[in-house]
Amino acid sequence: MSEFELRIGHLYPDVLNLYGDTGNVICLRQRLERRGIRAEVRGLGMGEVLHPDDFDLLFIGGGQDFEQDVLLQDAARNKREAILRAIDEEKVLLAICGGYQILGNYYKTWDGHELEYIGALDLYTVGKKERMIGNYMFTCDALKEEGTPYHIVGFENHSGMTYLGEKVAPLGHVVKGNGNNGEDGTEGAHYKNVFCSYSHGPMLPKNPRFADLLIAKALERKYGRDVLGEMPPLDDTLEIRAHRYMEKRLGG
Ligand code: GLN
Repeated sequence: MSEFELRIGHLYPDVLNLYGDTGNVICLRQRLERRGIRAEVRGLGMGEVLHPDDFDLLFIGGGQDFEQDVLLQDAARNKREAILRAIDEEKVLLAICGGYQILGNYYKTWDGHELEYIGALDLYTVGKKERMIGNYMFTCDALKEEGTPYHIVGFENHSGMTYLGEKVAPLGHVVKGNGNNGEDGTEGAHYKNVFCSYSHGPMLPKNPRFADLLIAKALERKYGRDVLGEMPPLDDTLEIRAHRYMEKRLGG
């Protein structure tokens, strides 16, 4: 084991875990440990108070409208302040689908419920009756190399249409599928070291370069240098083959 360590906080692991979203945390742990970097993973459920100093990286997965409603009070009371501080201090945060929506200002569900969210990011969500479902693909702006886009492949299933305010950038642009709202071609959100996406699948094992981007940023923030860049790359032969297969299927 090396001297490096990342502490991962998994918010609401029991409530927000659609389409294998927990696989993202497993993937982060695996990719760290394969490099000899210690990974400490802790779940924070309902009633548990989040202390941002305890974590280097936070993850929050997706849920249905019902679950998002159930945990709202707890999020406001026990997690909100800490999430705002973590974001401000440039900690890495990955949020998927329902977890992504919760970081925004509000969600008006298709059947008329208005849920006030934690307002950590300048965005809001409005539900529509027909769900947006299917395998999809989008470019990831943070991984563009010499003009060549990196395609993220994933699976979306949401009723919520998310609209970004001026303070956040999209994570990328839709090549195939709906993304944020099926209207403006954007997908996900990016603000400081917060990365949000509608991509289930789970997202990180299907897109290993994106997984490493999050790890690299968290290590850089903690140790003040490009720790990952000093290490040999992992053998991602199988992951890359699976990624290319989906990329081709989706027209990339
Ligand atoms: N409840 C949200 C929606 O339907 C999120 C769903 C999800 O996380 N897949 O829009």
